[in-house]
Amino acid sequence: MAEVLVLVDHVDGEVKKVTTELLTAARRIGEPAAVWVGDGADSGRARLAEYGAEKVYVAPAELNDYVVAPTAELLAKLAGEASAAAILVSATAANKEIAGRTAVKLGSGVLTDVVDIDAGLLAEHSVFGGATVTHAKVRSGVPVVAVRPNSVPPAPAEGAAVLEQVSVEISDAAKSAKVVERVAQEKGARPELTEAAIVVSGGRGVGSDDFSVVEALADSLGAAVGASRAAVDSGWYPNQFQVGQTGKTVSPNLYVALGISGAIQHRAGMQTSKNIVAVNKDPEAPIFELADFGVVGDLHTVAPQLTEEITKR
Ligand code: FAD
Repeated sequence: MAEVLVLVDHVDGEVKKVTTELLTAARRIGEPAAVWVGDGADSGRARLAEYGAEKVYVAPAELNDYVVAPTAELLAKLAGEASAAAILVSATAANKEIAGRTAVKLGSGVLTDVVDIDAGLLAEHSVFGGATVTHAKVRSGVPVVAVRPNSVPPAPAEGAAVLEQVSVEISDAAKSAKVVERVAQEKGARPELTEAAIVVSGGRGVGSDDFSVVEALADSLGAAVGASRAAVDSGWYPNQFQVGQTGKTVSPNLYVALGISGAIQHRAGMQTSKNIVAVNKDPEAPIFELADFGVVGDLHTVAPQLTEEITKR
């Protein structure tokens, strides 16, 4: 069976949930082989095995000294050597760039914002800012597929996860953009926004930088907190929590929009959520067009009631 390369997302040796989703999707296509760049593969190995990775290619941390290009060179090299059936990466901004560069090197094609993929490599992907889905297939070469987090339910399956050290000669061109500093984001008690199963977001309707009404509901649900650009631009919430075209893309099982009108640029980042609940005092707000469940009312009244009910259970 041909190998399917899966680029691992990890932080300090901890494998992110999206990688378990990619491994699950990879098993439909062929034999999953994880690609680990940097240190910590020993600690992450067990989780990769749990989701069916037969091999783990481990590349030196030096690749991360440069911006994306060396990882693309690595993936292209491994795909050639292993005659891979496909390469799967998570659809983050950096990985989408890696996907594009890798596809160019392989003379193949790239599919981004994929929300599902079948054994025949027919991909369903979200286009026009999430306004519609299309089906597409790469017609030549090794397809490079960027899959959105929370699109494929992860299912365990035992794999051997045999570690294999690999290296790549980093080209001078790839060395032209060097990482000069890394600033760790504050790790709060809440789940990471792009990985969370539930997201509660607040918009201009929150009315001030007091986001406690949003945070309280999020905490009662074990959810991540998001924000619209209007809220971020007003300085009410930090910009790493912005959801939308120029912010993060989320695809949780449940997305709760509090005081968000539903502008196309906001939808672009949350439209593929499985269930959408909106609270807005304007019955004509466009968010209600895509909400599965809508409450017309003041969020400062509705959200605390919801929080109270959920906390009681
Ligand atoms: P508004 O549109 O002002 O809506 C506020 C809503 O709250 C209204 O519907 C109102 O009825 C409701 N409301 C008010 N008070 C209450 C209350 N007490 N209770 C309940 N409801 C209440 N936006 C993003 O979010 N993310 C992006 O990534 C993004 N990228 C952009 C990129 C570009 C190039 C451009 C041009 C715009 C972008 N925007 C983005 C901005 C986007 O167009 C909207 O302006 C923004 O999403 C509006 O945010 P909002 O819904 O919070 O505010």
